[in-house]
Formats: sequence, C-alpha cells, structure tokens
Amino acid sequence: MNNVVYVLDASAFINGYEPGNNVNYTVSDITHEVKDLKSQIRLNQAIDEGNLIVRNPNDKFKLELDEIIKKSGDSLRLSEPDKNLIALALDIQNTNSNVKVLTDDYSIQNVLKIIGIPYSSIITKGINGVYNWVKTCNGCKRDYPEDYPYEDCEVCGSSLFKRRIKK
Ligand SMILES: [Zn+2]
Repeated sequence: MNNVVYVLDASAFINGYEPGNNVNYTVSDITHEVKDLKSQIRLNQAIDEGNLIVRNPNDKFKLELDEIIKKSGDSLRLSEPDKNLIALALDIQNTNSNVKVLTDDYSIQNVLKIIGIPYSSIITKGINGVYNWVKTCNGCKRDYPEDYPYEDCEVCGSSLFKRRIKK
C-alpha cells in the first residue's frame, strides 16, 4: 500500500497547514495565490526542505477534467489554478491510488466529490487546531481562522463575515 500523497490548495497554506513529513504536491499557479507573508514563508520553506513538490498536471488529465466539469456545470466557478490542481490530483491518482486533496474551497470540493477523489478541509477537520469562530468570505466562501488579521479575502478580495462553527 502506498502512503497518502497530499495535493494542496492555496487555502491549505493560508489556513496554516504544516507539510511535516507527508509527501505534498501543488501546482505552480497555486504558489502564486498564496499572498500573505507568513504563508509564503511556510510555502517556500516546504519547497526548500523538499516537503513540497511543485508539479503541473499532464494535459491529458486537464482534458479529462474539462469533460467532467462541462457535464457538472461547475466550470464557471473554478479558476484556472483550481482546475490545474484537480487535474494534478487526477494525474497522481493514476499512478498512486492514495491521493487526498487538502482544500477549503467548496467549488473544488464539489468537483472532487463528483470524480471520487478524497479531500479534507483544513479548518473543519481541525488539522491545525479547533476554532469556535471563523471568518468566512462573502465572495468565494473561503474560511479563515478567527485570528486572521485582515478584513478581506486574500484570494478574491471580498469582505469577510464572522460565523460560529461546531468544534
Ligand atoms: Zn474570497
């Protein structure tokens, strides 16, 4: 049995995921989506230490994904980096059946559900701690921890609102 290979969305870094000793992958587009300094340092450190491999999906899997989302109607809500990330998960699944995507993005999760690739959310699964309150983006619905220091979304720029979540 192969070990689980993690495919990371920008939200994984923004929400404080520590790559640790896992095998982690992401696509180059995603590294550009991580804009706050703390998350960038964590990301670059993971790359330097060899814990994060930046790799782009084979075109074959991008085409396969395009076909799937055309049918599901999710194409409009997915950005190009999102699509590349999901295509990379398909690509890795093709050679290593144990792949898991770490993302707090609901559109990505929705497509992963359709194609049957497992995923975890950083915040709700509490990989990096348990929160009673989160800040949620009015635009893309990303969740941020309560102590996230800004009032607008790092990814889409919309304002955030506070909401209570179950422990
Ligand atoms: Zn947003």
